[in-house]
Amino acid sequence: MIESEVLRRTWADISLDAIEYNFKKIKTHVGSAMVMAVVKADAYGHGDRMTAPFLEEAGADWFGVSNLGEALGIRESGVTKPILIFGNTPSQCVSELAKWNVTQAAYSYEYAKKLSDEAVRLGVTVDVHLKFDTGMGRLGFVCSEDNFDLAIDEAEKTARLPGLRVTGSFTHFASADEPDEDGVAYTKMQFSRFCRACDALKARGVDVGIRHCCNSAAVLCFPEMHLDMVRPGIILYGLYPAAQEEITCRMKLKPAMELRTVVSLVKDYEKGGCISYGRRFTAPEDMKIASTAIGYADGYHRLLTNRGRMIVRGKYAPVVGSVCMDQTMLDVTGIPNVAEGDVVTVFGRDGDAVVSADEVAALAGTINYEVICALARRVPRCYYLRGENIHNFDYARWKEK
Ligand SMILES: *Cc1c(COP(=O)(O)O)cnc(C)c1O
Repeated sequence: MIESEVLRRTWADISLDAIEYNFKKIKTHVGSAMVMAVVKADAYGHGDRMTAPFLEEAGADWFGVSNLGEALGIRESGVTKPILIFGNTPSQCVSELAKWNVTQAAYSYEYAKKLSDEAVRLGVTVDVHLKFDTGMGRLGFVCSEDNFDLAIDEAEKTARLPGLRVTGSFTHFASADEPDEDGVAYTKMQFSRFCRACDALKARGVDVGIRHCCNSAAVLCFPEMHLDMVRPGIILYGLYPAAQEEITCRMKLKPAMELRTVVSLVKDYEKGGCISYGRRFTAPEDMKIASTAIGYADGYHRLLTNRGRMIVRGKYAPVVGSVCMDQTMLDVTGIPNVAEGDVVTVFGRDGDAVVSADEVAALAGTINYEVICALARRVPRCYYLRGENIHNFDYARWKEK
């Protein structure tokens, strides 16, 4: 259990052992390819300041983030390996990219030119990875059949800009997590466009550097596409990019995050009584109701109203009534001895009972990624290594504990 220095309200238990286990599995699975650990969005809610240095220690070769703030955050926490920013960094921040040795995605000539101009003005060089849009429809040189030659022209011009140095090239898959025939065909098409783009640039004398395209789903399902480096995110944290057997059978993973809260109050409730905002639940009989200290402001989605379930004393307790901002009520009628202060597992394991992030996601009509990323900053993260609580981080108090 967590130490008393962390507010015992709602907290996330994070197993570094699980993250290490998943990382080692991935490393073995990809063989000689390098691994870029994707730690964007605060390491998918797991806390990048703790997990990124830990993954570096475990052998991660690169780190992937969405923006400069995240890159500087993990540099501050001690990460020395290269970091790639997938998204936009304004050209005004070129000095920081150079100073902190952060690599930027170069995803259009126009954008890259701005970076280069600023770099030249400052007398620095910015490392970039060329980003190709092979079918995701997001950032990158658009490598559609009709636009292919133009994309290669633009990428070549980008590579020859004086303020930039190309150290890698990448693309991102739209449907690698769809194992049906159509999804597989689309991924293969994207891969083929990417390879053609790299080859075309090489033929023009451009060094494309490290080639990488595999997200978690492709790491698992398309070993022939691993190339020089892979970019797993969700599987590092022990969740699958999709629930289909074709995907989950590829690697056994251990979920790293468990979310807990406490019982604030238990009360007997009479038949016909209403619970929570909008009176969306009316007691069909006399009941025992527990109020818990978690709500949608903690990241427990309001769509779980009358749908979710949590675990109390090793037994499942259904959510009754609307999820509030800071509280959620549970039906604990069949569970003996529930009392104020009891630990409630929102997702994770308690005894033989398990609620997975996937179950929560399905009930809320979303994906497991969103469930873990939605965890709010007011939820302290409690880290475990070899079963011991080695560190706690409470964003609300904003200091290391
Ligand atoms: C988020 C992201 C990844 C990781 O995706 P997962 O599905 O979590 O493995 C890889 N590459 C890019 C460009 C991303 O944005």
